Amino acid sequence: MNETSLNISIREVTKKYDQFYALKDVSLEINSGEFMTLLGPSGSGKTTLLMVLAGFTNPDYGSVKFGDEEVILKPPHLRGIGMVFQNYALFPHMTVEQNVGYPQKLRGVSTAETKRSVEEALSTVKLEGLGHRGINELSGGQRQRVALARAIVFKPKILLMDEPLSALDKKLREEMQIELRQLHDTLNMTTVYVTHDQKEALTMSDRITVINDGELMQLGRPNEIYEHPNNHFIADFIGESSLLPVTVRNGKASLNGEEVTLAEGAERSGDFLLVVRPEKAFLADKKVKGSNYFVGKLIDSIFQGESQLLVVKLSSRDDGHEVRVRVPNESVTQKALPLVGENVTIGLKVADSYVVS
Ligand code: ADP
Ligand code: MG
Repeated sequence: MNETSLNISIREVTKKYDQFYALKDVSLEINSGEFMTLLGPSGSGKTTLLMVLAGFTNPDYGSVKFGDEEVILKPPHLRGIGMVFQNYALFPHMTVEQNVGYPQKLRGVSTAETKRSVEEALSTVKLEGLGHRGINELSGGQRQRVALARAIVFKPKILLMDEPLSALDKKLREEMQIELRQLHDTLNMTTVYVTHDQKEALTMSDRITVINDGELMQLGRPNEIYEHPNNHFIADFIGESSLLPVTVRNGKASLNGEEVTLAEGAERSGDFLLVVRPEKAFLADKKVKGSNYFVGKLIDSIFQGESQLLVVKLSSRDDGHEVRVRVPNESVTQKALPLVGENVTIGLKVADSYVVS
């Protein structure tokens, strides 16, 4: 274990509100220095789990360890964590400096040391020179930086963040995602980051824990979760996908009676969903071995800047299901795209063909 971070061990954490389970038997290990994201839709239990880590919510059952120490009975202010809330939670009547120095004041740190650590924290979040400003004189992005500076001013070994970028506009949010990740790499504290934005999670995380209805659905590196979703919820929630009903019998998969060759997932018989990622599907001129093909009619074609999104209604294999195909812009200029109403053939490499339940 190094000095700047601690591992977190969460065991069998359950939280009930009356008969409703906000968290159901959640267990996970977060490595020292790791950037772990809790990802899930609204109401899935992300904030509840973060509040259990912070000590603001007591679970009905379970254990939370920071390093070797059980912290479940420790009050929040003794847990040594830095915390950034969704709504910033800054003190509006205090200056930037006073806000950032507040945790130091609470801890009884000397005036000189507080001044030094506040300057360092403000410089880390690129707010040098704004210490005397009032909170109301700052933009949303600057306020978020103040909240971050306040969370890291005492160099906590664990940093918890609850949707810290959700109030910012898209461009600033995307810039801040990269910046926060770089900051994490510099400071090296264990970070638990909550978001409902799958792209944000893919961009920032070492690993992602997907939560739905209070339950841990999948835990893995961003590429693992994207390329090997455990179930249709994850396949649908992370990235874009078209899900087509497939039946597997005796090692053979079929879509509406026509055979589909799968890279994985043909061992079990039953009804499954074929995951078609738009960027993996392609427009096919001719059929060659090693891919599955689907014939259909182009019903929509949408220019999205870096790519063109084609929506195809399948006819050959299936009636009514739609498949989305993303054609990169470079090839848009190279060859003519089909027109809406035309029949098209879509290919999907066998290597990219897998099913979920
Ligand atoms: P998320 O952060 O993923 O949006 P939360 O952890 O805030 O979700 O909430 C999970 C579920 O628990 C929600 O259905 C929410 O309504 C419920 N919940 C959270 N806090 C309370 C509470 N204090 N009393 C009752 N229900 C709550
Ligand atoms: Mg929340």
